[in-house]
Amino acid sequence: MKIGIPAETRSGETRVAATPETVKKLISQKHEVFVQAGAGIASSITDQAYSDVGATIVDRAMDVISNCDMILKVRAPAENELSAYRAGQVVVGMLNPFDNASLEAMNKAGLTAFALEAAPRTTRAQSMDVLSSQANIAGYKAVMIAANVYQRFMPMLMTAAGTVKAARVLILGVGVAGLQAIATAKRLGAVIEASDVRPATKEQVESLGAKFVDVPFESDEEREIAQGVGGYARPMPESWMKRQAAAVHEKAIKSDIVITTALIPGRKAPTLLHEDTVRAMKPGSVVIDLAVEQGGNCPLSKLNEIVDVNGVKIVGYANLAAMVAADASALYARNVIDFLKLVFDGEGTFKIDMEDDIVAACLMCTGGELKRKNA
Ligand code: NAD
Repeated sequence: MKIGIPAETRSGETRVAATPETVKKLISQKHEVFVQAGAGIASSITDQAYSDVGATIVDRAMDVISNCDMILKVRAPAENELSAYRAGQVVVGMLNPFDNASLEAMNKAGLTAFALEAAPRTTRAQSMDVLSSQANIAGYKAVMIAANVYQRFMPMLMTAAGTVKAARVLILGVGVAGLQAIATAKRLGAVIEASDVRPATKEQVESLGAKFVDVPFESDEEREIAQGVGGYARPMPESWMKRQAAAVHEKAIKSDIVITTALIPGRKAPTLLHEDTVRAMKPGSVVIDLAVEQGGNCPLSKLNEIVDVNGVKIVGYANLAAMVAADASALYARNVIDFLKLVFDGEGTFKIDMEDDIVAACLMCTGGELKRKNA
């Protein structure tokens, strides 16, 4: 099959969907690979590195797309790019299964589209789990940014000029990003507390050397909802959210850095850090809101800005994984190539096996029909 890798066009998107390592694998599987000139450069990959493993470098995105049967992407093609595509082409990427307009546009263009974020969180899907590979990077980068904005040391230091206290870090939401944020802050010597609605996270938090902030359940209903579904959280009742806000308030005003990562698939992110809490925090404290693209866990955070509220800096940077572009692309490209094993038979012929739960979950549309399962 002819497989194309155009450069990403979204603002701030530095990642690329294939690396020389994965292109080499595709070519060894008898595919032809076409890469747009400069597609990898923001991820520190030169055109030469792609051509050294056998890819053909093509100047224009339009020519990559029109020449190929399958297009590997990081983000969904923008609506104005779809005119370069033709019916029957296959697109694989992080296509955002909850963006109805974008899915409908791809369906109208007659594309067969696979959104990798829709893969189930099962053991078999782990090697192609783009949410995990990218959230892991975001969790790491959140701590790096926090350490940079914070005007004090992270570790406790005893010097001839006196002792410096360790930073106190509060992490809200301990899925993949939150757990990596705990591990990273721990390596820097911070003292960490963390909280999540799912009780299963308590043990994970403690195993990383952090203290779990418990928000008790007061009914079987609360306890039941908190278990989540498929590993994901569900929206909690108002009563529990109020108790959580009070617990977070008490911890946040003693913290130096708060990192929020809480998401609920397909919904606006829950509010965990309220305005009155931010206003009661110490000047010099830092908030990193990783949920900013989904509406934010803090109502004061603003997309791609640092907001200063009485000396508390709230960082609302989007797409933190793209700030670690080379590794983010390397891991993402491996996720993609592992997924492709499911849609090619031994001869390298494309197939859609709807009996395969991962393929069925990721397939958004084909042949002019919407197939999305989880929206
Ligand atoms: P996510 O990005 O959807 O959400 C981040 C975290 O926010 C979650 O831990 C969630 O429970 C939490 N959250 C949501 N609402 C909250 C609230 N009101 N208060 C506090 N916390 C709240 O989650 P994710 O990182 O994608 O991970 C989801 C799950 O998938 C986890 O259980 C993870 O261990 C699991 N997982 C499984 C596999 C696998 O088995 N292959 C792979 C990766 C992740």
